[in-house]
Amino acid sequence: MALKITYDCIACAACLDDCPNQAISKQPDIYVIDPQRCTECLGFHDSSRCVALCPVDACVPDPDHRETPEELLAKKELLAD
Ligand code: SF4
Ligand code: SF4
Repeated sequence: MALKITYDCIACAACLDDCPNQAISKQPDIYVIDPQRCTECLGFHDSSRCVALCPVDACVPDPDHRETPEELLAKKELLAD
């Protein structure tokens, strides 16, 4: 499933440049993840980069966007086109 960023975000930008899908952007107060672009880093890294980098654990699974690994990989391929 895609990840989302909670209001714990302190807008430090640590996650921004490491997202392989350019899924993260800055909103006025916090950063957000575009669920149409997040693949949990599947196909790029062994684990989610934003989760690893976030100093306040604000990147969490988004239960509103449940996807199988196959669906996530298909999304990755679509984004690569
Ligand atoms: S899990 Fe990976 S693809 Fe998804 S927002 Fe975080 S860094 Fe980007
Ligand atoms: S690394 Fe965490 S605190 Fe920093 S901008 Fe990203 S989500 Fe927010």
